[in-house]
Amino acid sequence: MSLTNLLPIIDNSTNPIIIAGPCSAESEDQLLTTAADLAANGIKILRAGIWKPRTKPGGFEGVGKVGLSWMAKAKELYGLKTATEVATRQHTIDAVEAGIDILWIGARTSANPFAMQEIADTLAELKVLDIPVLVKNPVNPDLELWIGALERIHNAGLRHLGAIHRGFSAYGKHLYRNLPQWHIPIELRRRFPTLPIICDPSHIGGKRELVSPLSQQALDMGFHGLIIESHCDPDCALSDKGQQVTPDVLNYILSQLVIRDPQGSTEGLSQLRHQIDELDTELVELLAKRMRVSREIGQYKKEHRMPVLQMGRHDEIMQTRVNAAKELGMDGDFMKTVLQAIHEESVRQQIEILNKR
Ligand code: PEP
Ligand code: MN
Repeated sequence: MSLTNLLPIIDNSTNPIIIAGPCSAESEDQLLTTAADLAANGIKILRAGIWKPRTKPGGFEGVGKVGLSWMAKAKELYGLKTATEVATRQHTIDAVEAGIDILWIGARTSANPFAMQEIADTLAELKVLDIPVLVKNPVNPDLELWIGALERIHNAGLRHLGAIHRGFSAYGKHLYRNLPQWHIPIELRRRFPTLPIICDPSHIGGKRELVSPLSQQALDMGFHGLIIESHCDPDCALSDKGQQVTPDVLNYILSQLVIRDPQGSTEGLSQLRHQIDELDTELVELLAKRMRVSREIGQYKKEHRMPVLQMGRHDEIMQTRVNAAKELGMDGDFMKTVLQAIHEESVRQQIEILNKR
C-alpha cells in the first residue's frame, strides 16, 4: 500500500491527532453541548456514532440520518471537523452527502470483506477519493483481515488511510473490554511504516479509569493519535456509558499526557544500546548452552526409558526462578512467560532426541 501522509490532512499540527466525542449522537442538544465543550477545550475533530452496531436487538441503534444534520451544525457553529462510522453503502452515501469530513469503519464491519468491498466501491462511485478513512481493527485478532480491509479501500483509489487500534474481543472476564494485544498494531506499523495508527483507549479499556493509562501507553509506543469517547453527561449516555468521560475530564487527561518526540536525538542512547547489544549476545549464548544441556538430558532419558516430562521438576523450576526474578525486582508473570517458552523448546528438543533412531 502506498499512502499519502494522512496527518496534515486531518489535523495540521505536529501534536498527536485527537478525535473526541460521544459514542453516539443522541439528541441535537446532547451533541451540540458536548461539541461546544470539546471545542472550548481545543478539540478539533468531533466523533459521534450515527448508526450503532449493537450486539443484541433492542439496544440503542443510533438516531440515524437526522444525526448527520446535528454534526453539520456542530461543524458550522464550532469549526470542528466531523467523523462518523459507516457500515453500509447507504451510510456512506448519507455521510458523504452530509459533508462528514472523516469516515471510520467499525470493528464488526472491518471483519466482513463483503461490507468492506461495498463501502470501497461506494466511495469510488461517489468519487470522494480525498476523504480520510480510518479502519478499525476487526473484532478478532487477525492482522491479515485488518490489512485486507485497508487494502480494499486503498484499491478503490483512496490514499488518506489510517488504522484505529480498538483492541480484540475475548471470551470471559478481563481487565480490558477488548484486549490490546499491542504486538498486532506494532506488526501493522512494521509492515506499513507510513500508515498512521490511532489508538481507541475507550473501547480497549471499557472503563473511564483506563482511558488515561491506555492513552499514555499508546503515545509511548509511537501511535499517531487517540480517538476518545466524551459525552456531556456520561452516566446518562445511551451507549457505552461506563467508558465515556466529560469534556473537562478529557481535557485533564490530555493535559497530563507526556508527548514523546519521535524526531528526538538518539545520540545519548548509543552507549546504553551498546550495553543492550552485548547483553543480548550473552543471553543468546547462554540459551544455546542451556539447550545443549537439555539435549544431553534428553539423551539420558532416552537411554533410561524415562518420559520427557516430570511435572514435579517443572513446578520446582518455575517456582525457584520466578521467586529469584522477583527478588531482583522483575515481574513474576513476565518471568513465567519467558520460562514457559524456554521449557516448551526444551521439551520439543528432547522429544526430537527420543524419536531419533
Ligand atoms: C464506536 O467507536 O463507537 C464503536 C462502535 O467502536 P467499535 O467498532 O470499535 O466497537
Ligand atoms: Mn462506543
